[in-house]
Amino acid sequence: MTSAGGFIKAIESGSKHLVIKRFTFRYPEQKLKFVGDGYQFDPKRGVGIAGYRGRHILMHDKCTGCQLCAIACEGIAEAIGMVKVDESWKQNKKGIMPQIDYGKCVFCGLCVDACPFYALFMTNDYELSAFTKEHLIYTPAQLAIKPKYQGDVEIVIDDRGATHG
Ligand code: SF4
Ligand code: SF4
Repeated sequence: MTSAGGFIKAIESGSKHLVIKRFTFRYPEQKLKFVGDGYQFDPKRGVGIAGYRGRHILMHDKCTGCQLCAIACEGIAEAIGMVKVDESWKQNKKGIMPQIDYGKCVFCGLCVDACPFYALFMTNDYELSAFTKEHLIYTPAQLAIKPKYQGDVEIVIDDRGATHG
């Protein structure tokens, strides 16, 4: 191909993309918006409820300290450690609850599936970066806080893949 031919081809190819909707967005000014809650599991029905697998949320008033979430994680990432909590809950005699190391977690959701007491779910919060490894370890108290997550970009899945509005 001559250099003139190559130039025309490049202009032609580039101009086609002027009318195609952008696939990228300006993070962090624009953020993904996930509809609904994060991933959950209903132990009574034995079914998972679809949702984004961001950081977990722990319901202290439901956690019994049974450690099943930690056992589920053992063969996966060893991201869960059971730690003592200051508060006392009648359903949790040992006073222990999970803490999660997001430096190790692979967001598989198996710990959520393993919890028989509706105490551990996942959320839409995917912004978990930190400057130190220690800051990636979320204590039971941190896991209890509902994330203040607000996205503003709706994800649209069509036959070309995922785009956003
Ligand atoms: S989601 Fe994370 S903490 Fe839970 S089992 Fe998977 S790796 Fe472990
Ligand atoms: S979060 Fe669920 S599985 Fe984990 S210790 Fe608490 S009750 Fe048990």
